[in-house]
Amino acid sequence: MQDKAQATTNNDNLISGATGDWEVVIGLEVHAQVSSNAKLFSGASTEFGGSPNSHVSLVDAAMPGMLPVINSECVAQAIRTGLGLKAEINLRSVFDRKNYFYPDLPQGYQISQYKQPIVGEGEVEIEVESETKTVGIERLHLEQDAGKSIHDQHPDYSYVDLNRSGVALMEIVSKPDLRSAKEAQAYVTKLRSILRYLETCDGDMEKGNLRADVNVSVRKPGDEFGTRCEIKNVNSIRFIGQAADYEARRQIDIIEDGGSVDQETRLFDPKSGKTRSMRSKEEAHDYRYFPDPDLLPLEIEQAYVDELAKGLPELPDEKKHRFMGEYGLSSYDASVLVAERASADYFEDVIRGLKNSKRDGKLAANWVINELFGRLNKEGHDIAQSPVSAKQIAGIVNLIGAGDISGKIAKELFEIVWADGGDPAEIVESRGMKQVTDTGAIEKAVDEVIAANPDKVEAVKAKPAMIGWFVGQVMKASGGKANPQAVNEMLKMKLGVE
Ligand code: ADP
Ligand code: MG
Repeated sequence: MQDKAQATTNNDNLISGATGDWEVVIGLEVHAQVSSNAKLFSGASTEFGGSPNSHVSLVDAAMPGMLPVINSECVAQAIRTGLGLKAEINLRSVFDRKNYFYPDLPQGYQISQYKQPIVGEGEVEIEVESETKTVGIERLHLEQDAGKSIHDQHPDYSYVDLNRSGVALMEIVSKPDLRSAKEAQAYVTKLRSILRYLETCDGDMEKGNLRADVNVSVRKPGDEFGTRCEIKNVNSIRFIGQAADYEARRQIDIIEDGGSVDQETRLFDPKSGKTRSMRSKEEAHDYRYFPDPDLLPLEIEQAYVDELAKGLPELPDEKKHRFMGEYGLSSYDASVLVAERASADYFEDVIRGLKNSKRDGKLAANWVINELFGRLNKEGHDIAQSPVSAKQIAGIVNLIGAGDISGKIAKELFEIVWADGGDPAEIVESRGMKQVTDTGAIEKAVDEVIAANPDKVEAVKAKPAMIGWFVGQVMKASGGKANPQAVNEMLKMKLGVE
C-alpha cells in the first residue's frame, strides 16, 4: 500500500486519518460565461446589472413558436478556448435538450451538448509549490444559462429574473486528476488566466461569470476511486479550496466511522465553511437528453478553426517560458508576471525602455514585482491605474544598471516618481541624487569614519565580517549616495582586511 502511495501522489498531499493516510481526488466542472454581446440563441444583451427582465427576448422567455438561432460568435469563442486548452476541436457537434423543471427555466429544458460536445480532450499545466503537473481536460461544451429565482425580496413571493436566461456558458470538465485543494485552486486560477488572455470569458467570479462544481472523493492511495460528492456553484478560488478540504475530511470521517459516502449534490456555505446536502445525485438518464429538433448539428470547417488558431494571442505558459529564456527570469517571477496579460504587457513595455535588457531584464522584473506590484497592492490599484508608467520604471532601472544610483536611492526616486511624476534621469540630475563614485570624496568619508572609531578598527582586524558596519557608516555619511562597491574596496584597503 505504501509503495502505491508513492506512485499516485506526492506524500505532502495525503490527509492522515485514524486508519492511515488518505488521498483526495478532485475533478472540476467549470462554468464560464462566454464573452459575447448577445446570448447563445437570441440577440438579447448579455450586459450585467440591468434591471430584472430587461434583457429578455421572446426566445429567452420561451414564448410558443420561437426558434433558437445559434450565435456564431459564441461558437468562435468556444473554439478559441478549446485551442487554448490544446484540445481537440470537433468539427461536428450536437445540441441536446436537458429536461428538467425549474421556475427560472421557462423552456422546461436547457439546451446543452451531451454526447457530442464542440471540444474534446485537452490539458492545462499547473504549478504547485514549484512542481509542474498536467491536468487533463475531458471536454468543453456550450450550453445556456438559466434565469435567476429571487427569494429574499418579499416574505410571501419568489420572483424570477430572466436576464441570464439563454446566456452562453462553456462548461469545461476536468478529468479527476487533482489531488489536493491547492491543486484545485491552482487549476482554476490557471484556467481563468487562459480564458482572460483569450478574451473568451472575463473570469469575474464575483459576478458569477466563472463558477465551479467541485467533485470530491477520497481513497486509500492506490485503491480505486471512491464515491464522489459534487459541490455545486462554488464562486471563489478561496471557497473552492475550503469546500474541497471540508468535504474530504467529512468523507474520511464517515468511512472511518464504518459508514459509506452517498453520491450526492451538495452546497458550500461560505459562512460556516461547511458543505451540506442539497439532493441525491441525479443521473444522466433522469434528464431525458435528446438532440434538439429545433437545431441542426453544428458543422464547422477545419479552415475556420485554422483561421481562429492564427488569431490567438501568446498564452501564459508560452509567455512564461519566453520570459525565462529571454530575460533569465526565475520560474516563479515569470509566473507572477504572466498571470495577467496586462502585467505581462507592462513588463514588456519596461523591457522595451531598457538600455541593456540582457543585463537588466531580471532587475526590471524585480522592480515590477516587488516595488511596483507591492505598492499597487497597498493602494488597492490594479496595473491599469498605476501612476508610474513602464517608461518611468525602465528609467529607474537604467539608472541602477548604469551604476548612477544605488538600490536605496532608487527607492526614494520611485517614491518621487509615484507622487510627482517626471523623468527619473532628470530628477536624479536636478536633485543631485547621483551615486558618488568619485574616489576622492569616498576616501574622505572613509578616513573620517576610521578616525572616529579606533576601537572598531581594532575589532575589525580580528573579525573581518565587521567591515559591514564600516560600509554602513560611510554610506550613512554620504546620504546613501556613495557607491557601496567602491566604499567596500576602499575600506578593505585602508583597514588591511580581506
Ligand atoms: P456528471 O456529468 O454526472 O457530473 P462526469 O462523469 O461528467 O459526471 O464527471 C463530472 C466531474 O466529476 C469531472 O470533472 C470528473 O473529473 C469528476 N469525477 C469523476 N469521478 C470522480 C471521483 N471519483 N472523484 C472526484 N471527482 C470525480
Ligand atoms: Mg456534473
